[in-house]
Amino acid sequence: LYVTNDLFADTTIGLGKEQSHYLANVMRVKAGEAIALFNGRDGQWRGDLETVGKNGVSVRLVAQTRPQMPEPDLWLLAAPIKKDRIDLVAEKASELGISMLWPVFTRRTVMSRVNTDRLAANMTEAAEQCERLTVPSMHEPAALDKALAGWDAARPLLFLDESGGGAPIAQALATVPPGKLALLVGPEGGFDENERALLARQPFTVPVSLGPRILRAETAAIAGLAIVQALLGD
Ligand code: SAM
Repeated sequence: LYVTNDLFADTTIGLGKEQSHYLANVMRVKAGEAIALFNGRDGQWRGDLETVGKNGVSVRLVAQTRPQMPEPDLWLLAAPIKKDRIDLVAEKASELGISMLWPVFTRRTVMSRVNTDRLAANMTEAAEQCERLTVPSMHEPAALDKALAGWDAARPLLFLDESGGGAPIAQALATVPPGKLALLVGPEGGFDENERALLARQPFTVPVSLGPRILRAETAAIAGLAIVQALLGD
């Protein structure tokens, strides 16, 4: 369970309304049972449920069970796509280890708004499910050109280019220094020529290809992240 409290032995923390409801009414836990907690800083902790009742659930922290480990510094920039599809991307990207999700609006992005609270909740739920010890952060949506204008040039941006002009991800990764990385995936309609030219002008972008078939945006995001994970091993 993800909490924001600092985690220390022999302290009791009260869980929020939603987490209390989930534990008490969905999982039907009982006082005395153990659960695992993390806050993104202090590793994983065992907590024993102290009270489970109408006024919520409280947990007594017992001991750290896993230390906090370094995690990949990997961002996913994704053009917003339809609700169920972007929800899937947020969930899978969290499982595949991204550190931040950044919705970027492109010229062919159909969705005019994006519910960042819902996406953040999806990522948290996925982080809990897969037992990572951090929750990816959620960047405020921005237009693609604005995101590129303020870019940290030390973070290579692998641009998933459906036009076929890019190298396989393995080849691209061999040319960039290890460390910070980002992946960019376009919307249902892909990138337009101006955006492709804008991306090509940036010294930090590397066009990459996922093969000859045009994948759904969500497939491309998930496949791209899976390949990066397989190659970097974290
Ligand atoms: N019309 C489909 C849809 O509704 O999802 C296809 C969308 S595809 C144009 C969306 C994005 O996925 C592209 O902008 C690109 O970032 C990525 N993509 C899809 N196929 C790809 C490929 N073979 N290589 C690299 N990127 C790809």
